[in-house]
Amino acid sequence: MPRYKTVEQVLSLMKDRTRVRNIGIIAHVDHGKTTTSDTLLAAAGIISPKVAGEALALDYLNVEQQRGITVKAANISLYHEVEGKGYVINLIDTPGHVDFSGRVTRSLRVLDGSIVVVDAVEGIMTQTETVLRQSLEERVRPILFINKVDRLVKELKLSPQEMLNRLLDIIRQFNNLIDMYGEPEFKEKWMINPQAGNVIFGSAKDKWGFSLPMAQKKGINMKHVIDAYTSSDKSKVEELASQVPIHEALLDAAIKFVPNPIEAQKYRIPKIWKGSLDSEVAKAMLNADPNGPIVFMITDMKVDPHAGLVATGRVFSGTLRAGEELWLVNAKTSQRVLQVSLYMGPTRELAEEIPAGNIAAVLGLDRARSGETALSVAFKDVQGSFERLHYISEPVVTIA
Ligand code: GDP
Repeated sequence: MPRYKTVEQVLSLMKDRTRVRNIGIIAHVDHGKTTTSDTLLAAAGIISPKVAGEALALDYLNVEQQRGITVKAANISLYHEVEGKGYVINLIDTPGHVDFSGRVTRSLRVLDGSIVVVDAVEGIMTQTETVLRQSLEERVRPILFINKVDRLVKELKLSPQEMLNRLLDIIRQFNNLIDMYGEPEFKEKWMINPQAGNVIFGSAKDKWGFSLPMAQKKGINMKHVIDAYTSSDKSKVEELASQVPIHEALLDAAIKFVPNPIEAQKYRIPKIWKGSLDSEVAKAMLNADPNGPIVFMITDMKVDPHAGLVATGRVFSGTLRAGEELWLVNAKTSQRVLQVSLYMGPTRELAEEIPAGNIAAVLGLDRARSGETALSVAFKDVQGSFERLHYISEPVVTIA
């Protein structure tokens, strides 16, 4: 299986929107969000930066070492194959964790699926509840990753039955939250079920993980996990990581359970777009139409010391190209796109165009701020913008 893809190959996949998934990782602090995204960045099929006209295979940890920069938890487009078919998974950085006010992370808005990481020992915590609730309110479909399963063996020394009970308990609590916060039309479908494959058990630190269907296919079970951690032979854990690599488990599940942008935008746009759904702009978004007016929702503005302000966001409709004049709804001004690129971890790679349903990084929109909606200038009079984000406060803890 070719691990490395060129920018051109990825861009051509991005045009087939059934092959695109937009996901993010969310978690209670310390449950393993950073370790999980690092593992994905390091192990998944990374797109190769072009060096002197040649596609050069690099993994991100190498890039990090070579350039002395921290790549961790960046936006990145990953390549992954399932049953011989290639997919582009845009892994979007969600800022650390909910901050003290429990603020909705704007980045959730551009996701269609979330990987919710839960520490097997700590179980569901306050911030797990907050981030899961935010995900459901944005109609972002959750997948559960029960991380740090090694701790159940090494620290708690649980028997297989006790382990099972604890894992089932976490799953039950997770489904209770989906039941509580999910909208009626989604919650039944979105409840997780280990047999179906949308629960991953594993250890991000030790790089192994599996869903039940994957474990069955590969002849692995919890007994192997217990053996690996109770054995004096340290290579047993590495063996597990090569038999059931965590990135494979997570990315397979994302491809299977997270809707593609065409499916997702049909039910997400009515929820997040404030304005008539009959306008040409809204219809184009409902269909993630690459030929419709451009609607680019900017979730992040960052300074690149060499290039200036970079606007990152999701193209909900149309196709972004350099030279397009866009109307910034909040700034009430228009600006021209100077350059369009896609994210490959530490680097932005120039792209001729980024079609609807994908994540783009854009130069030229320096009047924009996070949360801005940029529209094709011909549609500046459309009545509508993205709904303001709700802020969910975490329960206030009072000390008696
Ligand atoms: P974040 O705050 O959610 O981003 O969590 P981190 O990824 O920074 O992880 C928090 C701590 O948990 C770090 O010390 C990690 O090394 C550790 N950790 C992450 N994954 C695992 C795991 O699978 N098993 C164990 N035992 N520790 C882990």
